[in-house]
Amino acid sequence: MTTAQKNNEGGLLSYLNPDNIGPWGMYLQQVDRVAPYLGDLSRWVETLKHPKKVLIVDVPIELDNGQIVHFEGYRVQHNLSRGPGKGGIRYHQDVTLSEVMALSGWMSIKNAAMNLPFGGAKGGIRVNPKLLSSAEVERMTRRYTSEIHNVIGPTRDIPAPDVNTNEQIMAWMMDTYSVNLGQTATGVVTGKPISLGGSVGRNEATGRGLFTVGIEAAKKINLPILGAKVIVQGFGNVGRTAAKLFQGAGSQIIAVMDHTGAIFNANGIDIAALGAYVDKEGGIKGYSGAEVLLTDEFWGLKCDIAIPAALEGQITKNNADSIKAKLIIEGANGPTTPEADDILKGKNILVVPDVLANAGGVTVSYFEWVQDFNSYFWDEEEINHRLERLMKKAFESIWEVSLKNNASLRTAAFIIGCSRILKARQLRGLYP
Ligand code: NAD
Repeated sequence: MTTAQKNNEGGLLSYLNPDNIGPWGMYLQQVDRVAPYLGDLSRWVETLKHPKKVLIVDVPIELDNGQIVHFEGYRVQHNLSRGPGKGGIRYHQDVTLSEVMALSGWMSIKNAAMNLPFGGAKGGIRVNPKLLSSAEVERMTRRYTSEIHNVIGPTRDIPAPDVNTNEQIMAWMMDTYSVNLGQTATGVVTGKPISLGGSVGRNEATGRGLFTVGIEAAKKINLPILGAKVIVQGFGNVGRTAAKLFQGAGSQIIAVMDHTGAIFNANGIDIAALGAYVDKEGGIKGYSGAEVLLTDEFWGLKCDIAIPAALEGQITKNNADSIKAKLIIEGANGPTTPEADDILKGKNILVVPDVLANAGGVTVSYFEWVQDFNSYFWDEEEINHRLERLMKKAFESIWEVSLKNNASLRTAAFIIGCSRILKARQLRGLYP
């Protein structure tokens, strides 16, 4: 360890150590795996291991009962070589700097793998928003936005929804940014309400993109979607839409897991009915149309397709061996650890990686941003058509690179994404 590293123990540099296997350590290992494929560009690979800007902010608010509380907020701009930062905002009690840094790195790779003109960024607040009233969430959102005001903007860095954030929160962010600026800036966030310059199709875009690449992947391994048994972890924006679309295509959603528990029905769960229940009750626990399942049994269920769509680090060396699915489509960011990746490869399970499988959201966010700049809006048919075209194109190029290099789809997506980022870095050069 160098003196500089010692002086930063516990600080930012401690996250640059690949042995620190939090989410950022996982991301670093994934970058290390791709380095041998980068040819001359590997000279620049360290760029990907150093986030460009890390902002930690204090977010104090007054609760409804008069108490003052402080939350810790983050915005990390991982890489801006190819364009402004882009990535969501997460509100969760387990948010850490390591997590936000990893999520920002994955956004850089994803945006580049999809060839969107963005860098990668991510933000979050370490808070359980379910314990706050709506007015408290609004105050927290506005204070956080004010604190990160100087680094975001339509041409700087554009936040979007992620876990526990939604279009209302994006509306508050847009308003706060605009008030501070003195003019309405709709393009500062995406995932906004349609009446404020949001895009039709954005809400369902991540699940829809996941479904599109899932179908393409299933074709490659001759897995029929009709009658396929599917398990879904996470029943929020991504998991619920994916479940609905797979059910619509004739698959059976036999198990669902969320933060309240897991349920199972061998004949398939009615996703519309479960959705109505969750809207009312806040989780799947207690739903009468399925049996209760022990959460430990979830990943080992006999099924064809598994969709992790909750949080990172869910498929690990401890449960990967029990997985019986033939295809895993990653809705969540970072759900599979590198060790689990190796186990799944050994079992011949095809994994469509997060940086491709959940890229539908940022792709329609890109459409939203373009529409805001032009103040000209497309209809849903056009959005869905453009989304499908870009998702299929990205899938095919990643598939080809994977075959050519005898590498996993994750490594292939990283080869494409990292090459584009580092090429841009090389062309721009270092300043001074
Ligand atoms: P969401 O807040 O709408 O839903 C999250 C879901 O995960 C909920 O059903 C919750 O109950 C479940 N969950 C939380 N903790 C859990 C736990 N410990 N075990 C099991 N389930 C748990 O969030 P979302 O927008 O659907 O995001 C889900 C994942 O998809 C995240 O990893 C996010 O980064 C990723 N993602 C989201 C988008 C998007 O457009 N929303 C885009 C790309 C990637």
